[in-house]
Amino acid sequence: MERIYIGMGSNLAAPQQQLRNAIEALAQLPNTTLVGVSAFYQSDSLLPGQPRYTNAVAALDSTLTPLELLDALQAIENDQGRERLERWGPRTLDLDILLLGKRLIDEPRLKVPHYQMHLRAFVLYPLAELAPATLQLPDGRLLSDLLAGCPFVGLERLPQSL
Ligand code: ATP
Ligand code: MG
Ligand code: MG
Repeated sequence: MERIYIGMGSNLAAPQQQLRNAIEALAQLPNTTLVGVSAFYQSDSLLPGQPRYTNAVAALDSTLTPLELLDALQAIENDQGRERLERWGPRTLDLDILLLGKRLIDEPRLKVPHYQMHLRAFVLYPLAELAPATLQLPDGRLLSDLLAGCPFVGLERLPQSL
């Protein structure tokens, strides 16, 4: 059993409802327990001209293999109408594996930890609601260090999320 953190994001078709539906779908995954969900956070798109994003992080315990988990997440994305027209285009749902226990994975389809998690306030601050500041990435970096390097700028934590 490994503790897994999933970054969730949406900026199309009622983003908060998309995240709620995704959370329900995560809770139904086989061999998996949904352990927690952060508040929802809103921020402007990193790319201009897109609607604002709503993001959150979910914690899972699972015995799925990493690629089984990725397949399951992509199936949930597809079920919720994810279209891949352009890289980083607007999307109904994005589910990214941030951390998978202490694993370091570097495969064509899957890189864990997520390669940009340390740069993304909309990932780190919701993650910090679920994980201790002493959480260590496989390379030894502490979550507290990542937070210190990534100011809480442009993020709005929604008071009522679920
Ligand atoms: P970003 O990765 O910058 O957040 P994105 O989430 O929009 O961008 P996607 O289009 O969702 O990118 O995914 C592109 C590919 O990334 C997927 O097909 C998947 O195989 C691969 N991938 C690699 N590492 C991961 C990971 N940790 N979590 C989810 N997908 C990953
Ligand atoms: Mg992503
Ligand atoms: Mg993705």
